[in-house]
Amino acid sequence: MWPDGIQCGVCFTFDLDAETMQIDIDPANIDRPTQLSQGRYGPRVAIPLILSLLDERNVKSTFFIPGKAAEDHPKVVESIVLAGHELAGHGYTHTSPESLTKAEEEEQISRGRTVLSQFNVEVVGYRSPSYELSADSVSLLDDLNFCYSTNMMDDIFPYRHPDSEIIELPVQYLLDDWVHFGYGPPAWEKKIATNSEVREIWGAEFEGIYKVGGLIVLTMHPQVIGRPGRLQFLDEFMGFVAAHEGVWIGTCREIAEYAKSVLS
Ligand code: ZN
Repeated sequence: MWPDGIQCGVCFTFDLDAETMQIDIDPANIDRPTQLSQGRYGPRVAIPLILSLLDERNVKSTFFIPGKAAEDHPKVVESIVLAGHELAGHGYTHTSPESLTKAEEEEQISRGRTVLSQFNVEVVGYRSPSYELSADSVSLLDDLNFCYSTNMMDDIFPYRHPDSEIIELPVQYLLDDWVHFGYGPPAWEKKIATNSEVREIWGAEFEGIYKVGGLIVLTMHPQVIGRPGRLQFLDEFMGFVAAHEGVWIGTCREIAEYAKSVLS
């Protein structure tokens, strides 16, 4: 499905949730400065380090940002836009559509996009908080003229949703940093994975998808992957991916627009 000379597509994506993640996990966290600070580490410390790594690696990424997080950290969002990366929708308050009516879900998607549009970018992609879609999500995205969704786990190739214009860029929990590295209440008993464990999992999945010529979408969170030791691992992993012949490392928008042009 790829252009001549391309064997596999890769999107390095970041969900810049900032404090909205902790409030989504438990609304009581709004009164817990330490929990909120874990989220704030993303925009405050991780983003400058990540932007510098992406620049060194000459990689353009897609940043999915809840509207509320963008309102709370506008300078950081400006720096992401200035560096040439894509902004994409991630709701307004990082609330899963499971708990929302159709009208509330539409409000979340469009309000989030309105905030990001104020940074003079066109927002055409959407990742739901926690990947969850409702029965209405895809038709809402169609009605709102989005181009792509990156939430589903039923393929390793981009596809077009049935009876829809929306292109899906499939994800998987195993390619999400939060699953391996994320930590905090209520899951205190969870083990934090080592970099080499994640390197082994991501490396094997990349090589498998490369072999069959699919698409690999990595979901990372600045507050998680942005720890200095993990960024060294990410740097090395990006080098490993780029060393393969015929790898197209692009933004979600680039890959989705290409997929849309070749998928019927
Ligand atoms: Zn998120």
